[in-house]
Amino acid sequence: MPRPLQRVIAAQRTSDGAGVTLYRSLGQSQFARLDPFLMLDEFGSDRPEEYIAGFPPHPHRGFQTVTYMLEGHMLHEDHLGHRGHLRSGGVQWMTAGRGIIHSEMPQQEHGLMRGFQLWINLPAREKMCPAAYEDIEAKRIPAVSADGVTIKLIAGSIACGGKTFSGPVSGVTTQPIFFDVTLAAGATFSETLPVAHSAYLYVFEGELSIAASDSSCVSLPKRHGGVLGEGDALVVMAGDAGARFLLLAAAPLGEPIVQYGPFVMNTREEIDQAIRDYQSGRLVATG
Ligand code: MN
Repeated sequence: MPRPLQRVIAAQRTSDGAGVTLYRSLGQSQFARLDPFLMLDEFGSDRPEEYIAGFPPHPHRGFQTVTYMLEGHMLHEDHLGHRGHLRSGGVQWMTAGRGIIHSEMPQQEHGLMRGFQLWINLPAREKMCPAAYEDIEAKRIPAVSADGVTIKLIAGSIACGGKTFSGPVSGVTTQPIFFDVTLAAGATFSETLPVAHSAYLYVFEGELSIAASDSSCVSLPKRHGGVLGEGDALVVMAGDAGARFLLLAAAPLGEPIVQYGPFVMNTREEIDQAIRDYQSGRLVATG
């Protein structure tokens, strides 16, 4: 049974970091989360004043951040001297775990900067694990095309033409699916999804149509996210201008969430501890 569209979340224009303009759908309030997803930001501008100040050093604890760069060039540097260049089509999958302090800075002074940052929660038992990174170049991300549908697989697998294709990210407890799907005008995309996964669509070009729970057909325009209801498959159709969207799905954790800015833990006490650790320089300590 296809999953119906259960809830629409319009992205809100906001700014974060040192003044980067972005469009936030998940995470715009604590009522706009979808376990285990905490936040989804789209950034996209050809005006350097809307991105150039970037994200100077800031901490994270207790979750993962996934940065997917569609256009542009960002330099990532952390407190340990880890450096990563994120270029068009590339992904950085970062596990903050116990803690990192990093900066994410644009490396271009003109031109288009465009991409996404997704925050995925970690289960309680992994929140204090050591920080880890996976820097994935565009060439490691498989693209599968058929019948007006092109899917870039960042995490998760699909079967196509008797073969199975998998994204480069694996071994994440929440078993995330992260696809960038492009549909030609009028094309239909259908794919099975694990029944127990939370599932979310975020349209960033064109328009999609999808069945609602009363079986009527609803349209999901650009810069709108859709939370999907129960079922075992996704069926969507592109409008006359085609569509491009992120398909995000993962196993929910079902654990309490207490968030204070860039710290996401299970209890108020753990948040207080994170703040104390940060203030005393122990956020990133090991052991
Ligand atoms: Mn960050």
